[in-house]
Amino acid sequence: MTPHPQPNPQVGAAVKAADRAHVFHSWSAQELIDPLAVAGAEGAYFWDYDGRRYLDFTSGLVYTNIGYQHPKVVAAIQEQAARMTTFAPAFAVEARSEAARLIAERTPGDLDKIFFTNGGADAVEHAVRMARLHTGRPKVLSAYRSYHGGTQQAVNLTGDPRRWASDSGTAGVVHFWAPFLYRSRFYAETEEQECARALEHLETTIAFEGPSTVAAIVLETIPGTAGIMVPPAGYLAGVRELCDTYGIVLILDEVMAGFGRTGAWFAADLFRVVPDLMTFAKGVNSGYVPLGGVAISQKIAETFARRPYPGGLTYSGHPLACAAAVATIEVMAQEGVVENAARLGAELIGPGLRELAERHPSVGEVRGTGMFWALELVRDRETREPLVPYHATGEANAPMAAFGAAAKAHGLWPFINMNRTHVVPPCNLTEAEAKEGLAALDAALSVADEYT
Ligand code: PMP
Repeated sequence: MTPHPQPNPQVGAAVKAADRAHVFHSWSAQELIDPLAVAGAEGAYFWDYDGRRYLDFTSGLVYTNIGYQHPKVVAAIQEQAARMTTFAPAFAVEARSEAARLIAERTPGDLDKIFFTNGGADAVEHAVRMARLHTGRPKVLSAYRSYHGGTQQAVNLTGDPRRWASDSGTAGVVHFWAPFLYRSRFYAETEEQECARALEHLETTIAFEGPSTVAAIVLETIPGTAGIMVPPAGYLAGVRELCDTYGIVLILDEVMAGFGRTGAWFAADLFRVVPDLMTFAKGVNSGYVPLGGVAISQKIAETFARRPYPGGLTYSGHPLACAAAVATIEVMAQEGVVENAARLGAELIGPGLRELAERHPSVGEVRGTGMFWALELVRDRETREPLVPYHATGEANAPMAAFGAAAKAHGLWPFINMNRTHVVPPCNLTEAEAKEGLAALDAALSVADEYT
């Protein structure tokens, strides 16, 4: 492995200056951001050019499921680069067919054909296209509290307000409310009520839209970016039933939840639900080389058995990305990474976060599973008023900014979205790292408590 460079603030300053001069950052007001210059990363840690090291509780953008620079995956990418750096999608290539085989072996049910994309948004776009062509119907239903990607169809499907600026308004998308007991739209007081009412609401939505016009329901199995809302028992099975009743394609988006994140290979396994199409990306190769895809059921694959599927991408199933996927899946299997996520989540992270919630009045709710947790920070536990207003910026966001700064001062890089912090470390985190992260969160939450 490449030796770690010594701290070098001059290099860091040059990297930063070139970034500020020429890199146009996503989702950002260009002059209001101050990106950290990162010098290196390994496992669950990264460090800057001043030699400051951070424990990464974000897994990048929730994708380094086996941490940074895993030597086996780095070696596999190097070997593939030396042997065959690229080859067009129409050919059978060993890295690609092997990646597809390993993925299909792990996806639930008969999701045995893999369409590769460059990432999550295009996976969602293609899943929707497949569903529309399969059913001959135009509309797609998706949840308000959701994120499905930044390209046009995916952003239309997205429920979170990042949709607003780019929503075409004519994409055949109808939004509905998925269950979320802590902030129930259905005045529910129990998980059972929330589940039943959310299913009734969805069926009513289908009825009023006209079942014969609805091609697909798209859902994150566990909504991630919008707040890691683990659905109540029975909800996804209920959605599956509605899809079967009305001939609607069920698309589960596992771009964030897939590949070990939840303590299972796929979150769908936790609920014993088999979708018709399932999207993945991120964890498939720990994000080392861009890769995503759609796992396709037998029924939908047959639609395109003798009729061409009208869609494709130049880099679909890129050999470098696929070689990284093969190595990542092998590492996950050999090193028990999925089991580690399940065990550490159940025995250490979950109980540790609940213990923090008992002592810190700023924690309104703890929810999650595996290495996929959210803390909902509030001003007042009774009223559940969020610690900062939704979409707060500047002064209004000061409490979350102070929380984030305190975490970083204690060596933890936190994932922050609105009034939430998500605890989404690599799935191969060690016990010692988990404890270190919880201790830093403890200190940062004391700062958040000052605003309650
Ligand atoms: N779906 C989900 C559930 C996601 O979390 C994301 C990314 N955060 C996407 C789709 C989009 O993936 P990408 O950014 O790779 O296009």
